[in-house]
Amino acid sequence: MDKIKMTTPLVEMDGDEMTRVLWKQIKEELLEPYIDLKTEYYDLGLPERERTRDQVTIDAAEANKKYGVAVKCATITPNAQRVKEYNLTEMWKSPNGTIRAILDGTVFRAPIMVKGVDPVVKNWKEPITIARHAFGDVYRASEFRVPGPGRAELVFTAADGTETRQTINDFKGPGVLQGQFNLDKSITSFAHSCFQYALATGQDLWFSTKDTISKQYDHRFKDIFAGLYEAEYKAAFEEKGIEYFYTLIDDAVARVIRSKGGFIWACKNYDGDVMSDMVSTAFGSLAMMTSVLVSPDGNFEYEAAHGTVTRHYYKYLKGEETSTNPMATIFAWTGALAKRGELDDLPDLTAFAKKLEKACVDTIESGVMTGDLAGLWEGEAPARKVTSLEFLRAIRERL
Ligand code: NAP
Ligand code: MG
Repeated sequence: MDKIKMTTPLVEMDGDEMTRVLWKQIKEELLEPYIDLKTEYYDLGLPERERTRDQVTIDAAEANKKYGVAVKCATITPNAQRVKEYNLTEMWKSPNGTIRAILDGTVFRAPIMVKGVDPVVKNWKEPITIARHAFGDVYRASEFRVPGPGRAELVFTAADGTETRQTINDFKGPGVLQGQFNLDKSITSFAHSCFQYALATGQDLWFSTKDTISKQYDHRFKDIFAGLYEAEYKAAFEEKGIEYFYTLIDDAVARVIRSKGGFIWACKNYDGDVMSDMVSTAFGSLAMMTSVLVSPDGNFEYEAAHGTVTRHYYKYLKGEETSTNPMATIFAWTGALAKRGELDDLPDLTAFAKKLEKACVDTIESGVMTGDLAGLWEGEAPARKVTSLEFLRAIRERL
């Protein structure tokens, strides 16, 4: 059989620890035998970030902008302990943060569903994708502990010196105070990314805030989304047969629980933080959560939502076999390959990605799985817990 050809390189961002081990095995077992893999390789492993003084991360993000599609392995975000462990000259920033800052994107997270690992919410039949706005609000707030009686005011001093004042509260005793902000520019990018991702995946888009209470702040989010939808996306949504739907956050929560799934739920920063943990836990396992960063100008970076699985890596270093789940990392590759196939008009590449995804799901549904899933298993076939490599070989056989 001839290998499937690619025309544009995929930006490949290698990473750290157990996921770096899986990365190589996934390529050897499931990709290279079938695809003439054309990638532009960036090693985002911590030693190479140290050697290049993190320039490699910036280069990788620029390449993502140039070619449009990247696949990324999980990477260590250094803390004090990692600085010692890897003998670092600096506590390098989170690669994901650096990439997000350069691409200016929104992260979409969706679970991989398999029969036998059932959502806690029994009517959820399709994945729910959470799109979290990752800028501003409470994460960039200024806070103040009010010591005693006094007046708190919002003061805005315009560039020309004009002051606008508004009383927040006349404190009669001690309390707390907080100042939040967001930017039209950031909200607009968030909205573009959400509309584009809905179109790219053919799913309805829901957006929720608390605009009845927050008549200026949250209302601005609602207006920006509505304005952009009317001006730039409505026709394309209608053509695709998908819907943009705005509702209050409390109404959205109730509807999400009653829903069958199969849509994107765009959330403000704090709502997305809380709701993504709730939704992902209710779907099953972190090891089955996919993640894609979509930039407002249409670049994509696919990855797994989990980290480098350090605890398993230390076992691996001692020569022990591990049963680490490679699903989310495989799906990062298939997501990126399918997108490359779509953009370059290579239907064989896209079809291969879909077949590989099906082989993965079928393997688990047949009862062969890694330890994390064996603990959650409720399927008909008895669960057989295998090592990561055995799992990849079982997928390959099925493929
Ligand atoms: P983690 O790597 O996600 O692992 C936390 C625990 O979750 C593991 O110990 C394991 O539980 C379970 N787990 C996660 N993925 C799994 C998989 N694929 N298969 C089986 N079990 C899995 O989070 P962490 O230990 O907090 O972070 C480790 C490193 O990853 C840190 O250096 C952090 O900076 C980095 N990180 C990177 C990213 C990213 O690049 N996107 C995201 C998060 C964290 P058991 O040990 O109980 O089996
Ligand atoms: Mg959180």
